[in-house]
Amino acid sequence: MADVAVVGSGPNGLAAAVVMARAGLKVHVYEAAPDIGGGTRTSEVIEDGHWHDVCSAVHPMALASPFFRAFGLPRRIELKIPAVQFGSPLDRGRSALAYRSLDRTADELGRDGRAYRRLMAPLVRHIDGIVETTSDQLLRIPRQPAAAAVMGLRTLEQGSPLWNLRFRQDRVPALLTGVAAHAVSRLPSPAAAGAGLLLNALAHAQGWPIPVGGSSAIAAAMAADIEAHGGVIETDFLVSSLSELEPARAVLLDVAPPALARIAGTRLPAGYLRALEAFRFGNGACKVDFILSGPVPWTGPGLEDAGTVHVGGTRAEMTQAEADVAAGKHPERPYVLVSQPSLVDSTRAPGDRHILWSYCHVPAGSTVDMGPAVMDQLERFAPGFRDVVVRYKVTTASELAAYNQNYIGGDFSAGLLDILGLLQRPVVSPVPWRTPARGVYLCSSSTPPGPGVTGMPGFHAAKYALKDIFGLGMPALGL
Ligand SMILES: Cc1cc2nc3c(=O)[nH]c(=O)nc-3n(C[C@H](O)[C@H](O)[C@H](O)COP(=O)(O)OP(=O)(O)OC[C@H]3O[C@@H](n4cnc5c(N)ncnc54)[C@H](O)[C@@H]3O)c2cc1C
Repeated sequence: MADVAVVGSGPNGLAAAVVMARAGLKVHVYEAAPDIGGGTRTSEVIEDGHWHDVCSAVHPMALASPFFRAFGLPRRIELKIPAVQFGSPLDRGRSALAYRSLDRTADELGRDGRAYRRLMAPLVRHIDGIVETTSDQLLRIPRQPAAAAVMGLRTLEQGSPLWNLRFRQDRVPALLTGVAAHAVSRLPSPAAAGAGLLLNALAHAQGWPIPVGGSSAIAAAMAADIEAHGGVIETDFLVSSLSELEPARAVLLDVAPPALARIAGTRLPAGYLRALEAFRFGNGACKVDFILSGPVPWTGPGLEDAGTVHVGGTRAEMTQAEADVAAGKHPERPYVLVSQPSLVDSTRAPGDRHILWSYCHVPAGSTVDMGPAVMDQLERFAPGFRDVVVRYKVTTASELAAYNQNYIGGDFSAGLLDILGLLQRPVVSPVPWRTPARGVYLCSSSTPPGPGVTGMPGFHAAKYALKDIFGLGMPALGL
């Protein structure tokens, strides 16, 4: 008999398993796919020798999340910080860039540079408190009220129609919107602004790292630690019911809420099951992976050194693209999130070749191939882009949903990203990771603090399982 069963080996399932194995418990992880990692897998999706991140690619939280800090992730894998953290191309060969240095960033942003510095500097100063506050659930009284206040006021401003008040030109709004639009939601919105400002401040506080070897290095580091502490990881094992598992005193599920209802339904009360079934998902993503014969021929200065490029034009254009998606339409000029990992990691592609990772937002369940629209946007800001494309592969939102059961309709956030969606994850509760069935916990990003490779939903679920079922405290997680 195992002490703990973990269903799903995404970063949150693995984080939960790390904590439980480190506490000296016998852990068994079950994963439906042939490979571990969920949203942190890297594979040769197009051609041998070219390593693409299937889902996540860029990892600000690898350095910032309390779980990864305790785990000492940067000492276990190599994380590369690009020269430019992120940038936005604009027409007429212009760009807006975010460097590690806030001063350099502000100095290069022209007339709005001072306004950008005034917006960001307090966030960077309070970054530890902001990470601490946003790594838990929103209902908790913040332990660092000054950090929460700084973040709260700026989120309200940048998440409202007042978001342009500070700025007179188009570069800073484009830079900020490129980050806020990571959250699949209408703009402006408090949820998008909050996520965007956190990520933006992290770029200046520590950078946006890219793992050497790809995101799978993160999963591999956690799997190695689980196995070193006696845990067992079993792949190709789709769990449909708790009865299929080796008996265990605690079960932590890295699954979407409807799957929790299916798997543990017989042990859950009707009201809770109704809440799981009614859980709201957001829109999806269409992924486009490229093999390139050389770097992207951006016209905007500095973008050739950017780990991440937010391709969508002005704030107004990105807002329109996201409004189209929210209205169930496929934008003609989508907001495209682009990462250039082979700029900093030569292991990803042979010789002079590069790989490019991109996706755009689409309505839930979309089967539309957004490849042509994505390439039009890239060609707009990097004329000659099509000439460097060797091969590319499109994964539609419905294919993404088939790839990972947690991405219902292609929603990789595993739940709608609005304020209610952040509070009700999956239900409004002081301990949302704990289900009404004793010993059964939800640990996926459908619980707080939500999406991203943070390990925090798994960490929180494990913390409560340790306390409730085993009467144990948090073990040491570091090397
Ligand atoms: C295209 C794309 C780009 C992204 N980019 C980034 C990024 O750059 N940075 C970032 O931080 N985040 C990014 N994300 C989001 C990030 O990948 C997710 O938020 C994160 O992986 C969620 O982790 P998780 O452990 O909750 O779930 P997942 O990573 O989805 O893992 C869940 C795992 O559970 C398994 N599973 C589910 N049900 C069962 C079952 N019944 N039985 C057995 N196994 C089961 C699944 O197969 C899967 O392996 C991106 C996601 C996508 C799709």
